[in-house]
Amino acid sequence: MVKNAYVEISSGEAQKVSDITIVEFDKTKFLEAIEKFTENNEFQVNPDKEKVKMLLDGLFNNEQNYRLKYCPCRLITKDFMEDLKLVCPCNFLIHETYKEKGECWCGLFVRREKNE
Ligand code: SF4
Repeated sequence: MVKNAYVEISSGEAQKVSDITIVEFDKTKFLEAIEKFTENNEFQVNPDKEKVKMLLDGLFNNEQNYRLKYCPCRLITKDFMEDLKLVCPCNFLIHETYKEKGECWCGLFVRREKNE
């Protein structure tokens, strides 16, 4: 075995040599995944379905153009490591926007109302 060896393989090859399941996300599956992600959390997916649809369009356009689902309302820098911070969902809980307004920058995630 070679320590710290690096190799690039396709997702299909990765699947064959590992136990992980690689799921191709379409918008519906992505929405299901982020809804599950919000379960038992203080935030939820924005109940404004039109807004969510528009944001998912932006995310999937970014994936088509830049290979990852980058935030639809922020500009990528083209520094890959830096831009990883922009992959959705980002760590929006630490952002001032969430602390002050109760939603992520784009409004895809909003603070859950206390009585929900
Ligand atoms: S600001 Fe919202 S939409 Fe943008 S990456 Fe973060 S969680 Fe996703």
